[in-house]
Amino acid sequence: MKIFQNPEELSLYLKKLRSENKSLGLVPTMGALHEGHLSLIKASRKENDATIATIFVNPLQFNNSQDLSNYPRTFETDREKLEEAGCDILFNPDPKLIYPDDPLLKIHFGKLEEVMEGAFRPGHFNGVAIIVAKLFHYTHPDAAYFGLKDLQQFRIISQMVKDLSFPIRLIGCPIFREADGLAMSSRNTRLDEQSRKTAPQIYQSLLFAKEALLKDGIEQTKEKVKNFYDQFPELKLEYFEIADMETLEPVTNVMDHKTIALCVAAWLGGVRLIDNIIFDQ
Ligand code: AMP
Repeated sequence: MKIFQNPEELSLYLKKLRSENKSLGLVPTMGALHEGHLSLIKASRKENDATIATIFVNPLQFNNSQDLSNYPRTFETDREKLEEAGCDILFNPDPKLIYPDDPLLKIHFGKLEEVMEGAFRPGHFNGVAIIVAKLFHYTHPDAAYFGLKDLQQFRIISQMVKDLSFPIRLIGCPIFREADGLAMSSRNTRLDEQSRKTAPQIYQSLLFAKEALLKDGIEQTKEKVKNFYDQFPELKLEYFEIADMETLEPVTNVMDHKTIALCVAAWLGGVRLIDNIIFDQ
């Protein structure tokens, strides 16, 4: 696996790769890699001649400085995992090369970011969009792979690709879960033993909500989900939304929407976790 820290050296190397007509798949990550990340590498390897993973804990997308400093960093094991997964190129740039100065540009996605993560993490999607756009420019991939675990992020990047005409195919990959249903996340490593035992309840709450929604409708489902969380005082519900998969706007009548996403964010032992399930009518 080739490893680059410098965007210019990376761009030169990739230019050569493109001149050989090789297709490239990009997998952006913030490291602390798990099977979910590796499933994106696998998907990219299946469809491209070469795969590039990036590891960059992007300061611009953190609205909470403690969350940024607590974010797990495990570069050596990440490198080994990528090597084992057959990744061809790793880009882990120095933040000073990515942001020599703070960007002045602000990207806003209108209604798409007024809900859920965008509402609770001001500026988050501006940071996500800027780093993803930079990675697209450095790498010019044919396809880019993102997890549907970050559903709103996927939707927002799709919008950016469309609005700015990036010639890149976006692939949304399914959520990888632990055997007990907990969505894999780099943040799971920060859960203590007790919190780890409670964490699968987040996924359980989504399964419970789906069943309730089909039986009882929207308002009752929201009430039932709140009551569900009340059973676990250590689990603090930040939001539960029943959203249209395309617009991300709250659903008011289930029958009017083709694909519905149930999305949740909750705090557990000082760690913020998100999860979702998507289903068609
Ligand atoms: P992160 O390192 O958390 O920024 O994630 C990098 C990419 O991996 C994003 O596209 C995430 O959506 C994706 N990802 C994270 N966790 C999972 C998971 N459990 N299953 C599938 N994809 C995931």
